[in-house]
Amino acid sequence: MLLNKDFLKLQDSYLFITIDQKVKAFMADNPNAKLIKLGIGDVTLPLAPAVIQAMHKAVEDMSKAETFKGYSSDQGYPFLQEAILGYYAKKGVELELDDIFIGDGAKSDISNMLDIFDKGSVALVPDPVYPVYVDTNIMCGRELKYLSGNQANSFLPLPDSKMKADIIYLCSPNNPTGSVYTKDQLKCWVDYALSMDALILFDSAYEIFIDDCNLPSSIYQIPGAKQCAIEICSFSKTAGFTGVRCGYTIVPKELVKKAGENESSVNAFWKRRQNTKFNGVSYITQRGAEAALSDEGFAQIKENAAYYKQNAKIISDVLTELGIWYTGGENSPYVWLKCPGGKSSWEFFDQLLREAHVVGTPGSGFGMNGDGYFRLTAFGARENVENAAKRLRHL
Ligand code: PLP
Repeated sequence: MLLNKDFLKLQDSYLFITIDQKVKAFMADNPNAKLIKLGIGDVTLPLAPAVIQAMHKAVEDMSKAETFKGYSSDQGYPFLQEAILGYYAKKGVELELDDIFIGDGAKSDISNMLDIFDKGSVALVPDPVYPVYVDTNIMCGRELKYLSGNQANSFLPLPDSKMKADIIYLCSPNNPTGSVYTKDQLKCWVDYALSMDALILFDSAYEIFIDDCNLPSSIYQIPGAKQCAIEICSFSKTAGFTGVRCGYTIVPKELVKKAGENESSVNAFWKRRQNTKFNGVSYITQRGAEAALSDEGFAQIKENAAYYKQNAKIISDVLTELGIWYTGGENSPYVWLKCPGGKSSWEFFDQLLREAHVVGTPGSGFGMNGDGYFRLTAFGARENVENAAKRLRHL
């Protein structure tokens, strides 16, 4: 018996372990320090009242034989697919019910999607990047190519026509950089994918943070995208479902790729994969997700997003005052800043911890191009963010 040796190519994920060790060591020496953690990308506000109400009702449904539910239907319950369909219609995107697959979150679908692509497919990822895109490809032995995100392109790399790839990862609003592609920029990617016969995996996990109606919150707002893109989204950051687990993946039936000698529907491949390896998301969870997209629920989750965005504004206003370069913050819960004084990401991490008692995430944890940069998240209590801003001012 042999293990998958591709796992040996994975870099050990030292980022959060090292942060944890450094914080523990600091607290041992400074037991009275009041640390403010702006490092982890996890939501802090509770579920919206409309979601809680719907989930309570769903629990009641499970208590009666007439309304009890067993296995979910294969792509999710039509009531949630309908709600997503309506949500996209408001964005000007027309979908069909069976384009939508309900899953247990974006991370699973991003990873599992690789099952349906040819083993020889080459993946293209921006650097810095959400590490899951890289590691899941390494685990199945795929070749990766990197595209440089940097200050000059505002961490929004555009396609290089000389670079050939099959699977392109795009995340907008981006984790870790908080940057958001414009419609024109996304059009460049769609045109490139169509010309290369490549496929875009568009991660829109943070779309709720976009308020600027000129910015695309779905790749399907770009003409031609249904022929070349899969969109993966989640209720984690939109509705505070990180601990509840629900997301969705859109695979338009217009998306057709070659398998062997013949063209096949990508939707049919993903459906087959899910039917075999996935047994659905709980009824209670799907009722909660449906409620998040109702008029009442949506107003509540938008209010939560606005709270985080105000936090982001407090952080970015201080950076502006201090003359520190940053991206994000405006249509995203992440602020990505250049470490002052030419410091490396870890040097700045240490300084921030020692002098301001604030914990953030070193940009180098997201790829080589992240070194010299730093991520602060807007997830957290207002009071903490205001205190962190005061401390940053006095660095
Ligand atoms: N995509 C991005 C860019 C993320 O930052 C995250 C979580 O932090 C995910 C996907 C995973 O989301 P989920 O909780 O739906 O698995």
